[in-house]
Amino acid sequence: MSSPDGSQTLFIDGEWRAARDGAVRIIRCPADGTEVGEVAEGGAADAREAIAAARTAFDAGPWPHTPVAERGALLLAVADLLQRDRAELARMESLDTGKRLVESEYDIDDVTSVFRHFGATAQAEFSDSTGHEGARVLDVGRNDVHSLVAHEPVGVCSLITPWNYPLLQVAWKVAPCLAAGNTFVLKPSELTPHTAIALMRLLTEAGLPDGVANLVLGAGAAVGEPLTTDSRVDLVSFTGGLVTGRAIMRSAADTVKRIALELGGKNPVIVFADAFAADPEFVVDLILTAVFLHSGQVCSAGARLLVEESIHDQVVDQVVARAAQIRLGGPFDEHARTGPLISQAHLDKVARYVADAVAEGAVLRCGGSRVSDGELAEGFFFAPTVLDRCHTSMGCVQDESFGPVLTVETFANEDQAVALANDSIYGLAGGVLTPDGAKADRVAARLRMGTVWINDYHPYVAQAEWGGYKQSGIGRELGRAGLEEYRETKHVWRQLEPKAQGWFE
Ligand code: NAD
Repeated sequence: MSSPDGSQTLFIDGEWRAARDGAVRIIRCPADGTEVGEVAEGGAADAREAIAAARTAFDAGPWPHTPVAERGALLLAVADLLQRDRAELARMESLDTGKRLVESEYDIDDVTSVFRHFGATAQAEFSDSTGHEGARVLDVGRNDVHSLVAHEPVGVCSLITPWNYPLLQVAWKVAPCLAAGNTFVLKPSELTPHTAIALMRLLTEAGLPDGVANLVLGAGAAVGEPLTTDSRVDLVSFTGGLVTGRAIMRSAADTVKRIALELGGKNPVIVFADAFAADPEFVVDLILTAVFLHSGQVCSAGARLLVEESIHDQVVDQVVARAAQIRLGGPFDEHARTGPLISQAHLDKVARYVADAVAEGAVLRCGGSRVSDGELAEGFFFAPTVLDRCHTSMGCVQDESFGPVLTVETFANEDQAVALANDSIYGLAGGVLTPDGAKADRVAARLRMGTVWINDYHPYVAQAEWGGYKQSGIGRELGRAGLEEYRETKHVWRQLEPKAQGWFE
C-alpha cells in the first residue's frame, strides 16, 4: 500500500491535495528522531473547503440515502482491507507514535473489530420500504393515525482525534459516523497523521462516494476553529485533553452543535489486601500493566494506586523493584516492554509534573527523569516512576500526567476506598482487585466511572460502550450508544383519515 506524495495529503471531495498555502510538516519518530515522512499542513481555508465538500455530499449526495445495510457492507469491506494491509499499517503507526510494533499490530486488529462491529450493527438494522431506518411504529391508541419514530443521520461531522492510539481513535468515530449515513471532516493529531491518510485510501477503495470522507491535517487551533464554529457542521466528536475539550465545547456553543467529548482520566486501581494474599504476583503484574502500558499515554491508564494500608509496604516495594527493571526501547526492539513519550514538549510536561509532586510532598521511589543511555539518546524516553505517600488533595493525584507515573495512596476500608476513588473531577475508568466477588460488585456499583474492571485492566470490546462520567466526557463511543451519537430521531405522524378539526368553527 503506497501513501500519496507527502505534500498532497489532504483529502477533500475525493481528491488528494496540498495545503492552500503549500505548508508541510515533517513527522519524526519519537523513539529516535528519524524522519518518517512529510505531510501537508492544512489550515483554516483547507478546513472550510473540506466542510463545503462534506456539506454537499450530505445534502445532495447518495450516501445518507444509501440503504443502511449497504453502508454496513462497505464498513465490512473496509475491515477486510485493514487486515490485508495490517503489517504496513502497524509499521506506520509504530513509526509515528514510537510504540512497540506488537502493540500497533494489536491496535490494527482492534480497528478492524470496530469496523466489523459497526458494519454488522448497520446490516442488522431494519430499513423499511420508504427508507426509514430503525423505524418503531407506535400504538397511540387511535385507528386513524400511523405514528412512527425513525432514525436519520445528523449531517456533517467534525471528527478530531489524539495521537496516542491514532487509527483506533479515528475508527471509533469514522465507523459509526459512516454507519449512520453522515459525512465528515477528520482532523487527526498533527503528530501522527499517517494511518489516517491510509484509511482515506481504503475508504475510497471500498467505494465510498466522493466528499463523504474528508481529511484535513494540521495544528489544532488553526484547523479546529472552522471545524468547531462553522454553521455547516452539525456535530463535533472530539477525543483529547480536558482543556481542549472545554475550549471546543465553548466554540461549538454559538451554533448549538451536537457534541461528543472523550477526555482525560485519572483512573484508580483499588487493591484490597485479600487480592495480594491470594496472588501477589498477579497483583503486582496488574498494577504495572495498568499504568505503564504505552508509557502511560493511555486515557484509561491506572495511574492512581489505592492500596489497603496493611499491604502498602510489601506492594509498593515489589512494584518499585519491578518498575525499575522495565526495559525501554524503540518500536522494533523485541525486548522492549514500553516505548518513548510522543514529544519533547510532552516529556517536559511529565518531568514538571513529577517535580511538582515531589515539591508537594510525594516520595519519589523510582524513575522521575529522562532516560537517554545508548540507543535511547535521541528518543523521548522517561523512566517508569512511582510516587509514594500521596494524598487525594495533591495536584499529582488529581491531575493526569499522561506519562509513566504512578501515584500511591492508602485506604483503611471499603467505604474509604470508594470515597477516595470518586474524589476526582474525572470518571473514565477504574480497577478493583479482590477475590471477594460480592465486595467487588459492591465497589464497582459505587464507582462513578464509565468502565470498571474487576481483577483485570485495560480490555475493551467494540460491543460495549466507552466513555466518561463527570469531566471525562460527554456521550459514549462504541456499543449501541456509539452509533446513536451520530443519529437524529424523527417522529412522523400520519393522519389516515384527514378531516377538518373543528377547533375554530
Ligand atoms: P489534545 O487535546 O492536545 O489534542 C487532541 C486533538 O485536538 C488533536 O488533533 C489536536 O490537534 C486537536 N486540537 C487541539 N486544540 C484544538 C482546538 N482549539 N480546536 C480543535 N481541535 C484542537 O490531546 P492529545 O495530547 O492529542 O491527547 C491526549 C489526551 O487525550 C489525554 O488527555 C487523554 O486522556 C485524552 N484521550 C482520551 C481518550 C478517551 O477515550 N477518553 C482516548 C484517548 C486520549
